[in-house]
Amino acid sequence: MYLVTLNAYECSGCAACYSICSHKAITMEENEEGFLVPIRHADKCVNCGLCEKICPVEHPVYQNTSEPQVYAAYDRQERKRSSSGGLFYTIAKYVIEQNGVVFGAAYDKNLQVHHIGVENLQDLEKLRGSKYVQSFIDETFHEAKAFLKAGRLVYFSGTPCQIAGLKAYLLRDYENLITTDLVCHGVPNNRFFNSHLCYLSNKYGSSIETYSFRDTHYWVTRENIKLENGKEISQYDGNQSPYLYAFGQGYATRYSCFTCKFAHIPRQGDITLADYWGVGRFHPEMDDRFGVSLVLINSAKGQEIWNKINSRIVYKASSLKACTTYNPNIVRPTKEPEARKEFFLKLSQWGYDKVASTILSCPSNMRHKNIERIMYLRSKGLFQPLDLLKLWVKKLLSVTHLHSAFYKLYSQIRNPQK
Ligand SMILES: Cc1cc2nc3c(=O)[nH]c(=O)nc-3n(C[C@H](O)[C@H](O)[C@H](O)COP(=O)(O)OP(=O)(O)OC[C@H]3O[C@@H](n4cnc5c(N)ncnc54)[C@H](O)[C@@H]3O)c2cc1C
Ligand code: SF4
Ligand code: SF4
Ligand code: SF4
Repeated sequence: MYLVTLNAYECSGCAACYSICSHKAITMEENEEGFLVPIRHADKCVNCGLCEKICPVEHPVYQNTSEPQVYAAYDRQERKRSSSGGLFYTIAKYVIEQNGVVFGAAYDKNLQVHHIGVENLQDLEKLRGSKYVQSFIDETFHEAKAFLKAGRLVYFSGTPCQIAGLKAYLLRDYENLITTDLVCHGVPNNRFFNSHLCYLSNKYGSSIETYSFRDTHYWVTRENIKLENGKEISQYDGNQSPYLYAFGQGYATRYSCFTCKFAHIPRQGDITLADYWGVGRFHPEMDDRFGVSLVLINSAKGQEIWNKINSRIVYKASSLKACTTYNPNIVRPTKEPEARKEFFLKLSQWGYDKVASTILSCPSNMRHKNIERIMYLRSKGLFQPLDLLKLWVKKLLSVTHLHSAFYKLYSQIRNPQK
């Protein structure tokens, strides 16, 4: 166990041990790479062993079904401001309508990512959108437990290890708790993200007011930055931002993510949410490129909430085989890149700016230019007809059963190693 071995592969930073210690003998502190890890303080510890007993990495629990129902889904209205199909918001809105409380990840005033609880639709906006940074759990496990004990409906959303951590901390099931785990590629940390914000701030000569990892107009991972001097920057695609490049390649990912015990079916949440990458191959009629969520229903509670909200959304039944084809992190962890150790060494020696202009400088300029062109056409209102044409072609391919062969060919061209 991490508290004994201090082996970096063993601790996901879920904060269950920190939260459960009533003697306040554990603090969460940054390690040399900037990830939060628990530190046990001998002067306060009474050696009760509870923290070790509940650690979900040491003792993973897989309570949910190994045959989840799978759906491709979107909320036509809510996805406009969400990452994929907006399903998180649809569920969260329902919970708030029932006088419930929703927990998820939000930016603080310095754009660091923390879990918070919200009780109204205005604050729920803070939880929208993926933040590709490990969020600080802070005291949210305690807060969620207090609401559960008071009989309020609680919806807790997070990475699979955070959901496993919450359940381990609670020690028992609560009828009024609903959980969602995200499919998780792995996490960089707040320190690394902050270095990126400083880099952007120096580059553009202004502090950053807001930052978003996803483009809500077009279903892609892409930086959108609003500067305090009023300028807006939206030029990096998923490969061209040094941060997103490091995230995608796994260079800045937490060690434990490469051996993640929760990139696994059965999943940890009552419902699992993700992007339905490759939906066009399996359900072309759902793919209009504005964002489609992948939804896995993992438990009876998940089914209950799904029955309550599915009249608000567009959905189509799918299969595990289909959805794992382009989203491997549903069933297995990201592979550790060979250069990861070297990357963190160089980061500490050179600093972020030099690493950004060398190791993290993406060779491909092509994709960036293409996306710029698409965004330009879209801003002039010219891309919509092209989108519709694409949709029409996809439907035609689907009717003639050619879409499968077409997508296979397309994947081989894009990723010849597969
Ligand atoms: C670190 C990370 C890695 C991911 N990796 C993948 C992947 O490999 N494949 C894939 O298909 N999808 C991945 N996702 C999920 C995906 O990006 C969307 O969050 C998901 O599809 C839900 O989208 P939505 O439109 O329903 O809701 P949105 O409104 O976009 O999602 C918001 C929800 O995500 C939660 N959230 C956001 N940031 C964090 C965070 N840092 N930690 C914990 N919870 C957070 C919020 O609390 C909220 O519940 C990842 C998300 C995160 C945060
Ligand atoms: S409970 Fe969570 S934070 Fe504590 S040692 Fe285990 S994985 Fe790490
Ligand atoms: S052994 Fe008990 S007292 Fe000591 S850190 Fe763990 S939970 Fe706290
Ligand atoms: S990959 Fe696994 S260990 Fe890493 S943050 Fe995601 S759920 Fe946690």
